[in-house]
Amino acid sequence: MAVRIGVFALQGDVHEHLHAFRTALTKRESPGEVVPVRNKRDLAPCDAFVIPGGESTTISRLIQKNDLFQEIREYDGAIFATCAGMVLLGNDTSDARIQPLGIMDMGVERNAFGRQKESFESDIEVKGLNSPFHAVFIRAPVVTRVGQEIEVLARIPEGIVGVRKELHIAFSFHPELTGDLRLHELFLESLELR
Ligand code: GLN
Repeated sequence: MAVRIGVFALQGDVHEHLHAFRTALTKRESPGEVVPVRNKRDLAPCDAFVIPGGESTTISRLIQKNDLFQEIREYDGAIFATCAGMVLLGNDTSDARIQPLGIMDMGVERNAFGRQKESFESDIEVKGLNSPFHAVFIRAPVVTRVGQEIEVLARIPEGIVGVRKELHIAFSFHPELTGDLRLHELFLESLELR
């Protein structure tokens, strides 16, 4: 089945995700395309939607401004979210400037590592992978609370950093930055099996 993957393209590390998913599709020899999404017309034909890292307050504002809020909430494809994208997928953040999408029942704390540890890298275990993943955290959030239907995929001492709900997955680090595409492939695999 040819899949069409849309990447929210108004703010954040859009090109890295476009490139990572294109490479992952080629590697899997899967037909499909990866396209930028700027409005609801772009989103409608996509089987999957990627919400990148960036600035969650800005992404939230742009989602509203481009009339995508309700569209994303009602979207029935799979969602892949990283960092700021993870903040938006939850249903409570501690920041009133963000209108969370509420797609996953979880609380997410923005910039959870504080100034001293704004950016760091760490090899972490991720459920579904048979060896550690080199995770790059940049002003990353952590998940502080999960509802019953959320499966935890990765956890570090500071909190939960990877989650899944049905076909949706979210990470507080940046798998699109390291060239290790196993998490993109994991996502594509479940999408293609659907
Ligand atoms: N700290 C950012 C925010 O919550 C996220 C950083 C990122 O996506 N790399 O908006």
